[in-house]
Amino acid sequence: MNKNLVIAIDGYSSCGKSTLAKALARKLHFIYIDTGAMYRAVTLYFLRKGIDLNNEEMVKDALKEVHLNFDSKDYQTHILLNGEDVSDEIRQMEVSQQVSEVSAIKAVRQEMVNQQQRMGRSKNVVMDGRDIGTTVFPDAKVKIFMTADPKVRAERRFKELTAKGEQITLEAVFENIAHRDFLDTTRKESPLTRAADAIVLDNTELTEAQQLEFALGKISRFLKA
Ligand code: C5P
Repeated sequence: MNKNLVIAIDGYSSCGKSTLAKALARKLHFIYIDTGAMYRAVTLYFLRKGIDLNNEEMVKDALKEVHLNFDSKDYQTHILLNGEDVSDEIRQMEVSQQVSEVSAIKAVRQEMVNQQQRMGRSKNVVMDGRDIGTTVFPDAKVKIFMTADPKVRAERRFKELTAKGEQITLEAVFENIAHRDFLDTTRKESPLTRAADAIVLDNTELTEAQQLEFALGKISRFLKA
């Protein structure tokens, strides 16, 4: 019988999780699921509707109106929020500044985790986020926990954002990453933490090709099984 394989990639903000996840999905012909994009899309919706994050009822009602879908052509993240492609908009700083507050809300996490578990239940998937190996798929056969020097992460992200035309300073990017790491690791609901059985990948000094090679080396035995 052919059992599906889940590759769970977790780690700090902007340390190249999605770059590695996309490369693995392409190489192995797996489906790529960017769970951060889901939290970002919910955040965008809440911002647009002016949802008060402290008002539990308002949050729960708003969540019922959020319908997320992935259009996973080319192993890129195309996320649809109620049918609208918001893939670019969710990367803007306004969303980045709010997303960790939104993702700390219990009702939001419950809904997202349910959806993620449905998506990965019967397919071969590479899923990246903060709690995939600990909460979404604690039984995943392959778990990778990514980290990198915060300065290097900020520089990489800064380059990406400015290339897209965003007006931003390196300092602001660094602050945002540090702020999100702090909130993500200290929140009550499934905080970011390394699963005991996750392989650590520090890519501070690795190229994209090297990190892919590292991950494939760790995964190969599960592909043969
Ligand atoms: O991965 P990305 O940086 O796009 O994620 C944005 C934010 O979404 C994170 O800073 C975190 O607050 C939240 N997130 C989460 N759990 C996940 C994925 C993302 O809490 N599985």
